[in-house]
Amino acid sequence: MRSSQFFLSTLKEAPSDAEVVSQKLMLRAGLIKRAAAGIYTWMPLGLRTLRKVEAIVREEMNRSGALELLMPAVQPAELWQESGRWEKYGPELLRFKDRHQRDFVIGPTHEEVITDVVRREVKSYRQLPIHLYQVQSKFRDEIRPRFGVMRGREFLMKDGYSFHASFDDLKREYQVMYDTYSRIFTRLGLQFRAVAADTGSIGGTGSHEFHVLADSGEDDIAYCPDSDYAANVELAEALAPSTPRPAAGQALAKVATPGQTACADVAAFLKTDLTRVVKAIAVVSEDDEGKPHFALLLVRGDHELNEIKASKLAGLTDFRFASDAEVEQYLGCQPGYIGPVGVDAGKVRVIADRTVAAMADFVCGANEAGFHLTGVNFGRDLAEPTEVADLRNVVAGDPSPDGKGVLGICRGIEVGHIFQLRTKYAEALNCKFLDDNGREQVMEMGCYGIGVSRIVGAAIEQNYDDKGIIFPAAIAPFTVAIVPMGYHKSEDIRDAANALYEELQNAGIDVLLDDRNERPGSMFADMELIGIPHRVVIGEKGLAAGQVEYKGRRDEVATMVARDTIVAHLL
Ligand code: ATP
Ligand code: MG
Ligand code: MG
Ligand code: MG
Repeated sequence: MRSSQFFLSTLKEAPSDAEVVSQKLMLRAGLIKRAAAGIYTWMPLGLRTLRKVEAIVREEMNRSGALELLMPAVQPAELWQESGRWEKYGPELLRFKDRHQRDFVIGPTHEEVITDVVRREVKSYRQLPIHLYQVQSKFRDEIRPRFGVMRGREFLMKDGYSFHASFDDLKREYQVMYDTYSRIFTRLGLQFRAVAADTGSIGGTGSHEFHVLADSGEDDIAYCPDSDYAANVELAEALAPSTPRPAAGQALAKVATPGQTACADVAAFLKTDLTRVVKAIAVVSEDDEGKPHFALLLVRGDHELNEIKASKLAGLTDFRFASDAEVEQYLGCQPGYIGPVGVDAGKVRVIADRTVAAMADFVCGANEAGFHLTGVNFGRDLAEPTEVADLRNVVAGDPSPDGKGVLGICRGIEVGHIFQLRTKYAEALNCKFLDDNGREQVMEMGCYGIGVSRIVGAAIEQNYDDKGIIFPAAIAPFTVAIVPMGYHKSEDIRDAANALYEELQNAGIDVLLDDRNERPGSMFADMELIGIPHRVVIGEKGLAAGQVEYKGRRDEVATMVARDTIVAHLL
């Protein structure tokens, strides 16, 4: 590419409302242009980097055996109603009506659509496992879009979904994805860490986040340099044990008093020891104004009380269990964190506080009387209870929960997330297959996301100096910049620059020839600002001595290299 034919639009100053380095530099370098809050145009220069990130993600996904498809960005509301997320998702979900007044959403994620495809197409265990992925623009109406493309409202995501005949096979694919993600972030040239995401537990976990390490990250990560322990502090904190710990079999009941929206209350309550909670029941009621109230019942014990059904709670007919959707919406936590939440049917009913208290009594009583409730097994209905580290107020130097060293604390940017969904969506959308005995079974499911556009910002957060961006070579918009001193004045320089340009192109190197009629200083500044890793300057004096000047983007000083060997030098 020649600068004269390209579209460089660098700025001296970043807009004053830009908050973090990557956002400032991306705007100054002209990689992106803002269209609205959290919504950006990728300019030709930025798009080159975005596409390189995408290509690496795609190559490694294909290599893992996953198959690419492309789902619609616009999704019918019916699917979201079927999964329960139409109610649950809240204002991050952008909803609209078409001209026939039918409801649609712009996809923030695609579990519903993919599950709908698979339930129609896959009927037999012989067609499993299958892993389908796409690279596509998502829309989430983030409450605080910020940091440029790192928390956009429209952003590019790679999202993959795998379907399995057994939990074991899901776990196998999960490991494949863990390894694939590690390869992707290594190839991208980023410093990253895989972090236990759901519980911060020391044992196995059904979810990992991949974080690019940078001070501007929004998440705190506790890690042990001497082992592979790493956990997202924020998430682990929500689960951290605290006193008082209820005794085995003891139930705790907390009633949201009428008039309270319950969120703050319940959030505090959730900090109760959840490590051995085998059952969490959220009960929903409405006050006179139709505002929902929650009571949360946590049951701790060494046997499970999972199969408490409304019918078994004799006489307590005036309540219902909260749906996962409501738990997430109103309690501000994912239902997974408090275990599967009861049976759900019907509409919201009014309950009195005493009803909840009675329910707590019932559960306590049932336990004390040794009334064992059956039909539950760990692993299927509940995550195995693993030890959860208490990471509240943790500081660097504290002992690591795995006992293998001391903790360090760093900040991270979530660039990837892998998740064992189990049967959550498959059950809701009735996605079943016939096993080898001809029995109908619900599919096991995993999902795997990568924030493709966020990666560009995150890479810059990790690689910049006072002159601008320093792109890792794998994702730089151009790998080499040729900067001729006097392209428009000297035929020798022009010929030498054009000849080198062709040689590099023939060698398969992404090269930008800066043939603009600009002052050398401003050409250097631009090439540095946009983060090109290698620069070759062609000047009269060097040329006369058969040399060109080479400078790596991180080098302090330039060195002279023989013109004949420069291509080999750059390869
Ligand atoms: P966050 O905690 O940052 O809000 P998330 O957990 O909501 O992210 P996921 O649902 O796990 O995001 O989506 C998969 C990936 O998509 C994330 O790991 C992240 O890299 C990317 N992503 C999520 N939200 C945004 C956003 N608003 N802008 C850019 N990338 C995003
Ligand atoms: Mg989010
Ligand atoms: Mg997250
Ligand atoms: Mg996530």
